Amino acid sequence: MAGCSNDRFLTALLIDGEQVAGEGIVEPILNPATGEVLTAIAEASTDQVESAILAANRAFDAWSRTTPQFRANVLLGIADAIEKNADHLAQLEALNCGKPLHLARQDDLTATVDVFRFFAGAVRCQTGQLAGEYVAGHTSMVRRDPIGVVASIAPWNYPIMMAAWKIAPALAAGNTLVFKPSEHTPLSILALVPLLAERLPRGVINIVCGGGEGVGSHLVSHPKVRLVSLTGDIVTGQKILQAAAKTLKRTHLELGGKAPVIVCDDADIAAVVEGVRTYGYYNAGQDCTAACRIYAEAGIHDKLVAELGSAVASLRFASRRDADNEIGPLISTRQRDRVASFVERALSQPHIERITGAAVHSGPGFFYQPTLLAGCKQGDEIVQREVFGPVVTVTRFDGLSQALDWANDSEYGLASSIWTQNLDKAMQVAARLQYGCTWINSHFMLTSEMPHGGLKRSGYGKDLSSDSLQDYSVVRHIMARSSYAL
Ligand code: NAD
Repeated sequence: MAGCSNDRFLTALLIDGEQVAGEGIVEPILNPATGEVLTAIAEASTDQVESAILAANRAFDAWSRTTPQFRANVLLGIADAIEKNADHLAQLEALNCGKPLHLARQDDLTATVDVFRFFAGAVRCQTGQLAGEYVAGHTSMVRRDPIGVVASIAPWNYPIMMAAWKIAPALAAGNTLVFKPSEHTPLSILALVPLLAERLPRGVINIVCGGGEGVGSHLVSHPKVRLVSLTGDIVTGQKILQAAAKTLKRTHLELGGKAPVIVCDDADIAAVVEGVRTYGYYNAGQDCTAACRIYAEAGIHDKLVAELGSAVASLRFASRRDADNEIGPLISTRQRDRVASFVERALSQPHIERITGAAVHSGPGFFYQPTLLAGCKQGDEIVQREVFGPVVTVTRFDGLSQALDWANDSEYGLASSIWTQNLDKAMQVAARLQYGCTWINSHFMLTSEMPHGGLKRSGYGKDLSSDSLQDYSVVRHIMARSSYAL
């Protein structure tokens, strides 16, 4: 383990049960809240990625034949270990993402533990079709079996929670894994390495660090990898699909989002303001379900813009006292500049009005001011494209059918919400929104029991819930002929 840790951080990869230093290029890891270099991580070399995949392949036979009870107990052990180390893991998450520590602890870590516990339970009570004689003299039954080696590739916005979403159902279903965190945010995942190594047979899970084009592409193109699970950008999803086509791999893609928020005249305006202030800007808007595309009905529009403007301007960030902060910075200067250029292009159009924000925050770190833009039109780039930053737009509508048409006029299909005090109306709209999730008088809430995933270019495949277990397994039919006469 020489060279696998420094004073503050664990830096070892996990390959075939061994905690080893990466042998690839060395990349600095930053704290986006200050711009400071936290440490440097040596990525996996080509040979190490190869060893990780082959180790996962060797481990598959034995792991896939363990009982659900056995795997559930392993997952429960991992959950307990994460819970025990939650304060430390939250600190790493806060440092590496720049998130306020109290939010990383209370939200990300709590959810991470719950996801492992949920899948430990879910794998022991799966349901399916009835066995029976569907052809005379033949008994049919259905099995649900694991797929093989899964390559899991994660983004930087919720590093440890995304790891849980990918690792827990894949292991529960009996697969083995090679997991790659984002090259920006490996620290909390590398801190899990000893916990995982202690609890899982060698090769069942392998953790390799590295960039998308190097380590990521190697994983995606390897013939022994049977499923690629990505949470990331649409363009990355497209590249992965092209690479996976060569070996006909299964893919599970959770891509971007641009959530419409339909606010009707009869909505509880205080609830909308509080909801959008929180869930339009949570994690500095680096969230694929962020409440970022408001359609406000004509009667409520002006009041909503005014009240939301004041509420957004009161969001606390970049304070030296971390406990005061409600949102963090963008992950990198590149991401911050990308957000800034979206807003610049939007404001170069005369019909778009800056209500608040719209500037890079002066001072250290990669902060961008929470921004609210009004007067936006359906065809505007800022309404159509995912910004992935603390930027919310407001578009006025007349009549619900116009709002519904505009909400569905999007390449994305992940999350949406409708705000009204008329539940009948809400249910009608919810039924016609083409999104993986629709919240009524709420936004952003996820729970381990319910599926999360998109339509259209937001991808396919579900995270969380027993639907995710299905995505990480295959249905097989076993048929036995019987000529025994009773
Ligand atoms: P990204 O696509 O740049 O990177 C995601 C991961 O893919 C990283 O680990 C990266 O190294 C890897 N990668 C990049 N190119 C690759 C390639 N050619 N082959 C293999 N792997 C490759 O995304 P990001 O910037 O880390 O995250 C932001 C994006 O993720 C946003 O678009 C956001 O909407 C999306 N996201 C979606 C969900 C969801 O549940 N739908 C959740 C979080 C984030």
